[in-house]
Amino acid sequence: MEIVILAVVIAVVALGTIGGLIIGSRRKKPLPPPPPTTPDITAPPAEPRVGEEAGTPRDEPRRTIEEVDLPGAPAEPGTQAPPAVEAAPEVEVPEPTAGRLVRLRTRLSRSQNALGKGLLALLSREHLDEDTWEEIEDTLLTADVGVQPTQELVERLRERVKVLGTRTPDELRTLLREELLTLLVPEFDRAVNTDSGLDTPGIVMVVGVNGTGKTTTTGKLARVLVADGKHVLLGAADTFRAAAADQLQTWGDRVGARTVRGPEGGDPASIAFDAVKEGIQTGADVVLIDTAGRLHTKTGLMDELGKVKRVIEKHAPLDEVLLVLDATTGQNGLVQARVFAEVVDITGIVLTKLDGTAKGGIVIAVQRELGVPVKLVGLGEGADDLAPFEPEAFVDALIGE
Ligand code: GDP
Repeated sequence: MEIVILAVVIAVVALGTIGGLIIGSRRKKPLPPPPPTTPDITAPPAEPRVGEEAGTPRDEPRRTIEEVDLPGAPAEPGTQAPPAVEAAPEVEVPEPTAGRLVRLRTRLSRSQNALGKGLLALLSREHLDEDTWEEIEDTLLTADVGVQPTQELVERLRERVKVLGTRTPDELRTLLREELLTLLVPEFDRAVNTDSGLDTPGIVMVVGVNGTGKTTTTGKLARVLVADGKHVLLGAADTFRAAAADQLQTWGDRVGARTVRGPEGGDPASIAFDAVKEGIQTGADVVLIDTAGRLHTKTGLMDELGKVKRVIEKHAPLDEVLLVLDATTGQNGLVQARVFAEVVDITGIVLTKLDGTAKGGIVIAVQRELGVPVKLVGLGEGADDLAPFEPEAFVDALIGE
């Protein structure tokens, strides 16, 4: 009897402990990170994100760099309190851009890179019959390569595989690599044009539908330019989305770039005008203008962006118009690209969130659609997760070396 009672007591205590842990962990407020020795380079989330944990309060006040760096913030239990930091560094030093695209490989493989591996597996089959070629075609279409480029690629592959006769995996990889590279138009000039060639600053306008990562990209680009030694001025002309100006300014502050802004809901064109004017007066090298991208109607968008463009050009010519597209939106992204291309002269594409998709084919489709190069790609939410687009590194990331 005593044994039974003892067992029950033990069971109750054990259950209580486990329950406490679960409830405790549910109730536990996330601990603030320990004060970093180097500044935190993760941008504060401006909007709820896909995959954000349910129950995470979205309206928590945003932590600024200064707050994060405050000396004496509570340390993680079990860790030694770091020495008090005298003063937070004024600005961050962004890492160089060269070689950043290599990160894509791990990020694509994390998302189970469907395109490259799928194609190689299909091409390695002993008999490449009609069904297999159809599967190859489907793989390309599913990966957003687009109808026309898919047909071209399949045709070229069929020809070359026939000539090849027996196929070793290495030969197939080389062949696929070459053909994908051709579709990416390696000869495109992908440099972001930030040099006006005049004594006025280079002017870059960033356009795209809200939510694609436009403001983040503008901030990341400012970092890259600052790292290159440029004096950068930001224009927060996205007055439509609440907090977009704050968000941009946070990015700017981190690298010591000033942000010209106006009231929420104010006239984007007048902010763009002021930014360019100030850029000229202060001898800035580059002015980056973030714009609002609400696709309410094409006419509305056209009016708004057209006006921003016109007022900028009263001061200085526009050197680059970057269209930001979210790589995870597939065909939708292409529809957006078409609309924007009708409204402004796009000179370069930035594909964001390439880390979140296995469908790298969108790069091929969107370049084909607009006839302008993908110049930059977003590989994550980290401050230095913006990479120059290099076709070779991209194909290597897709199919492995
Ligand atoms: P905007 O409305 O177009 O200005 O969009 P934001 O710049 O606010 O970005 C929307 C969300 O996308 C934010 O949570 C960003 O952190 C996120 N984001 C932007 N670029 C990338 C990227 O390359 N990869 C990932 N994973 N997220 C990104």
